[in-house]
Amino acid sequence: MSGKKIPLFKIFGIQINLDFSWFIVFFLITFTFATGFFPYQYPGYNPILYWIVSAVAAVLLFVSVLLHELGHSLVARRFGIPVKEIDLFIFGGVAMIEEEAHSPKEEFLIAIAGPIVSIILGFFFLILALFYPKDDLINGLINYLMYANFLIGIFNLIPAFPLDGGRILRAFLWQKTGDLLKATKVASDAGKLFGIFLAILGFFYIIAGSFINGVWLILIGFFVYNAAINNFEASKFRLYLSRYKVENFMEPIKPVFHDTPVGEILSKHYPTQKTEHFVVIGKDGKFHVVDVKKLKDATFLEPVGKYAEEVKCYVSPFDNLYKAYRLMVKCNRKELPVIYKNTLLGIIRQNSFKHLLEAAK
Ligand SMILES: [Zn+2]
Repeated sequence: MSGKKIPLFKIFGIQINLDFSWFIVFFLITFTFATGFFPYQYPGYNPILYWIVSAVAAVLLFVSVLLHELGHSLVARRFGIPVKEIDLFIFGGVAMIEEEAHSPKEEFLIAIAGPIVSIILGFFFLILALFYPKDDLINGLINYLMYANFLIGIFNLIPAFPLDGGRILRAFLWQKTGDLLKATKVASDAGKLFGIFLAILGFFYIIAGSFINGVWLILIGFFVYNAAINNFEASKFRLYLSRYKVENFMEPIKPVFHDTPVGEILSKHYPTQKTEHFVVIGKDGKFHVVDVKKLKDATFLEPVGKYAEEVKCYVSPFDNLYKAYRLMVKCNRKELPVIYKNTLLGIIRQNSFKHLLEAAK
């Protein structure tokens, strides 16, 4: 999951990526179907045809998982929660939902959307199978997709965080107790237990002689167990930092004009402001930013505007510290200008909330 990703395409503005681990699943499904299931169930076809239909089955499974994740993503976006990417990997897919839902109801609807899409797809293939009753390879493909989608929908409803069912459980507990962190803890403990259960089940499968299924279950068990822990830690960190607003941690900063000589910045402004990034008012009156590191090779008489760039990374005073922190990581900076309605209000430095960062981890 943390391996290298291939960017595939964008849909509804969401970047779809393929993790290299997906190819393992693609190969396993294609191989099992082309050499086992299809020739056994539907004998007499050209072997190449088995391979083609099997590869199509694997790709359509990928599309089914993608549609499931899009279900989550589009509902999240409907509630104003940004989703930038969907990653598809060995155990399925994950939509990168960037913020916590605003209410238990939103959390519930975002979580249930994926399984609903899968179950609708299951019924779609069920109806398709009814309209195509011939006992051939195509029918086999349709039947497989029907079962796969029903299975994806139902498996994900198991109340084990971070599976969708676990998120639904969390939404109910959140609604009941009003404490999102506590709700997340209980739901992720259920996730850990479920992970252990799957691994034990896999162990019994191996003893019973079903080696591949057993190993697969153990791997999924480990994955769910780790995901439960990681998602809880991430939620804790996010919730903790989200309680604080940028405005309470920002410091005033004076912008400089674009024609200020570099020498004046380095000798006068830099020692007093101790900032790595100066906000520069450009010729156009707009804010730009200059990285002090870039001034190292500049001559002292050059105007600073020559080294200024467009301000891409900034926060509003009403953003929370989690958003500011995420942006700092993304922009690879330890400080960000605070801008609101084209007005520069100050600067927020990671140092000013480092105690909170440590406490949140
Ligand atoms: Zn889901």
